[in-house]
Amino acid sequence: MSTVNPRQRLDVLCQLLNDYNHQYYVLDNPTVPDVEYDRLMRELQSIEHDNPELKVATSPSQRVGGEALASFSQITHLKPMLSLDNAFSDDEMQNFVRRLEERTGRSNDVFCCEPKLDGLAVSLLYVDGVLTRAATRGDGLVGEDITQNVKTIKAIPLQLRGDDFPQRIEIRGEVFMPFAAFNGINERAIAHGEKAFANPRNAAAGSLRQLDSKITASRGLSFYAYSTGVVELENTPMSDHHYGQLQQLKGWGVPVSPEVKQVKNLADMIAYYQDILNRRSELAYEIDGVVNKLDSIQGQDKAGFVAKAPRWAIAYKFPAQEEMTTLLDVDFQVGRTGSITPVARLEPVFVGGVTVSNATLHNKDEIERLGVKIGDKVIIRRAGDVIPQIVSAVVAQRPNDTRDIEFPSTCPECDSAIERLEGEAVARCIGGLVCGAQRKEAIKHFSSRKAFDIDGLGDKLVEQLVDEDMINTPSDLFSLTQEHLLTLERMGEKKAQKLLSALEASKSTTLAKFIYSLGIREVGEATASNLAQFFKTLDKIKAASVSRLTDVDDVGEIVAKHLYYFLKQPHNLAVINSLIEAGIHWSVIEEKDASALPLVGQTWVITGTLHTMGRSEAKEKISALGAKVAGSVSAKTTMLVAGEKAGSKLTKATELGVKTLDEDGLISFLAQFE
Ligand code: NAD
Repeated sequence: MSTVNPRQRLDVLCQLLNDYNHQYYVLDNPTVPDVEYDRLMRELQSIEHDNPELKVATSPSQRVGGEALASFSQITHLKPMLSLDNAFSDDEMQNFVRRLEERTGRSNDVFCCEPKLDGLAVSLLYVDGVLTRAATRGDGLVGEDITQNVKTIKAIPLQLRGDDFPQRIEIRGEVFMPFAAFNGINERAIAHGEKAFANPRNAAAGSLRQLDSKITASRGLSFYAYSTGVVELENTPMSDHHYGQLQQLKGWGVPVSPEVKQVKNLADMIAYYQDILNRRSELAYEIDGVVNKLDSIQGQDKAGFVAKAPRWAIAYKFPAQEEMTTLLDVDFQVGRTGSITPVARLEPVFVGGVTVSNATLHNKDEIERLGVKIGDKVIIRRAGDVIPQIVSAVVAQRPNDTRDIEFPSTCPECDSAIERLEGEAVARCIGGLVCGAQRKEAIKHFSSRKAFDIDGLGDKLVEQLVDEDMINTPSDLFSLTQEHLLTLERMGEKKAQKLLSALEASKSTTLAKFIYSLGIREVGEATASNLAQFFKTLDKIKAASVSRLTDVDDVGEIVAKHLYYFLKQPHNLAVINSLIEAGIHWSVIEEKDASALPLVGQTWVITGTLHTMGRSEAKEKISALGAKVAGSVSAKTTMLVAGEKAGSKLTKATELGVKTLDEDGLISFLAQFE
């Protein structure tokens, strides 16, 4: 930096800061995080300090905010609306107190501490208690007339309460957007493919500076007052303390933050800062620090102002939650359920109290929404314990050599295909059984109670076996030996033997359980059972097309596609084959050969109440054995099933000499075919 000519650097900084101011204050669309702005501002201030001859009145260091938009009528403030000086450390706070004492010649002064709301400053003019005019801060001298918009904010009274308010009073405070409203607006914007607001401050400013007040009304803005401007006293003297004035405002129905507190000294101010910082994530709205003000109005008058801020107040800023860094690359991680997540690899940056070098990019839609490229400068946000997010790309600073982020077409872990179903944001690896990332979950599912039900093979043991590289797929379970098992920690001979016997016993299963155990997405027990009943053999399921699969009860297009893709993966087929080679078997589900069924040619009738199975189930079972189930008894009836309270049909059957079975008789009759 020392080799740079201060004049040239100053010109660059002024140009940049003027641009950033315009984007931030006029367009409500910042392009760099506040810390970057603050860093450049401090650099400018330090050059101006060291080279006072270079300082000009129009320097960004001497100006408040941005110009008022001509599309609103403009309002000249009765008293300038200034900004605040910043402190970033306890030392800087100590300097603030020391300088103040020196200038005012006062000590032991009381201070008022307030949260620094991150919204935008407004001035509200009440005449005879009626809200008559509202303005933005603008450049501090001239603001925009936003009266109609402000009247839509429910927290702001249109009429002051009581009768002891001054005849004319200007109330200043912050319009802000609580997180709940901010999140809702951004979710809706994203869903409609519109641009999301960068942060609640910009959302509040963008919502308040609308030419159509109906839009403002729909944005859920709120307000806290933090000071008074011009006051024309008629009958009510204002308190001679800032805190007292805020209490007066409260009495007139104007909202004031409940966090406002009077304190005695520097140590109290630092404790207040810590307390609010600790509770920051619990607050319903964004704050970016605390504001400390000399409480005595007389003291304030003595301290006076510098160009753009009072000397009697200071904003003690919280560590930044947003920083700027470079997107170095994007890796793709496979989750335990196969979800493929793009993860940004970042130039390490200190933000929100930690060093961040990775951030999730969620999915393809999010990458498209952000329009971010590898090599871009990006804004990272880390608020509280929330995982770091990429908020936006700094497109204005895009280098020439950026690359598009390309989604892999196969799983980076196992090379299986990746599927992304219509309507789903997440892309998934369908390598279920073989994918290293999904291995543990796949094997846990395979051995669970409703699948292979392997006694003694709990989740912990599965993890141990996978971690020790003893198994990779479910079929490897069946090659485990006593010798292998005994090398594991906490594994004795008895336990090993028990597990081997359980594995052996599990080999005899059903086709339905086998399909379920494969852990195909959305194929639960019932679907697996329907598939087995419908197709009878695994080969037929494997050969079925998506449309054939949808012929099965409960199988819609999505499930059919999951099944189809799963069973087309060579890796999955290899595991299925080795399971069968290991001796997994199930009893054959007979093809219905109508002529071979035991009751073929017979006609059965069912009457009365059946308690254990119900008439429709009985009908299904009897039909499955080949009989025709008819509604009335005739000489051709082979058998009448007569449940409780059987009536005329039983009488007729007895007359015709038709054989009958009661419920117990039916149950034992059916049992011989199961
Ligand atoms: P500021 O926001 O740092 O502080 C002054 C403002 O604080 C007041 O005008 C008021 O609106 C608000 N405030 C909140 N609670 C308050 C309270 N209890 N008492 C008094 N005031 C309270 O100053 P500013 O001039 O509005 O903005 C400067 C800051 O804005 C910069 O430090 C930077 O962080 C940010 N900025 C960022 C960009 C960018 O491109 N990212 C551009 C311009 C400014």
